[in-house]
Amino acid sequence: MNPGLSSSDKMISGDSEFNEVFYTDARVPKDNVIGGVNNGWAVAMSLLGYERGEAAATGPIHFKGEFARLLKMAQDRGVANDPVIRQKLAWCYSKVQIMGFLGQRVLTQFLAGHHPGPDAAIGKLQWSEYHKVVTELAMDILGADALHWEGRKPPSSFGSDDSGALNDPSSWIGTFLNARAGTIYAGSSQIQRNIIGEMILGLPKEPRPPAPTK
Ligand SMILES: Cc1cc2nc3c(=O)[nH]c(=O)nc-3n(C[C@H](O)[C@H](O)[C@H](O)COP(=O)(O)OP(=O)(O)OC[C@H]3O[C@@H](n4cnc5c(N)ncnc54)[C@H](O)[C@@H]3O)c2cc1C
Repeated sequence: MNPGLSSSDKMISGDSEFNEVFYTDARVPKDNVIGGVNNGWAVAMSLLGYERGEAAATGPIHFKGEFARLLKMAQDRGVANDPVIRQKLAWCYSKVQIMGFLGQRVLTQFLAGHHPGPDAAIGKLQWSEYHKVVTELAMDILGADALHWEGRKPPSSFGSDDSGALNDPSSWIGTFLNARAGTIYAGSSQIQRNIIGEMILGLPKEPRPPAPTK
């Protein structure tokens, strides 16, 4: 086995977290084949179901905490009663509540023996689209303070804000930038919508391009 690691690209946040690993002429003992030979796509889909679905139950807890910190920041900065900010805060609150109910449904289904599949796309689409909006609201609340980014960055590129850095603009700015990637990684929102449409709602499949002529 000869894994090769390519260099990583720079993200909008300034971090570099990307790597591509290539396995050249990899050989695997028959006993280690998962899901049968030439069935890699089905195995990859199962894996993606877990990647997208595992956070559905715990994610809402983080987003609830993040929303509470955002609300406090709006109050501390005296903008919580601004009609536009208040409207957006109410929208975010309702989304977090819905996310919590979705999470409970996922947990209940999991305890009943159902493993994450195409339905994991629902939670992934919901939290990632929400996170773009809530972090934009954080920028609105910060106003001009959102224009200069210095100081502590969020500890993780993924997930919610830095709970240890209450009211710290730099942490919110980092989270805002990272949230742009949330609707791309683990499958873009467009792909999640296709999965929901085709595999859950049973809508007609997206037109496929004609097969190349030999
Ligand atoms: C921060 C970050 C971390 C990542 N981490 C990892 C990682 O750890 N491991 C890993 O393997 N990958 C990782 N990725 C890669 C990520 O999974 C892909 O970037 C993502 O799935 C989109 O694929 P793509 O970039 O090839 O875009 P493409 O597939 O080229 O898509 C380009 C655009 O076309 C749209 N599109 C494509 N196909 C369809 C379709 N059938 N229907 C409708 N719209 C379509 C997409 O939504 C998108 O807008 C990461 C990406 C980011 C941004």
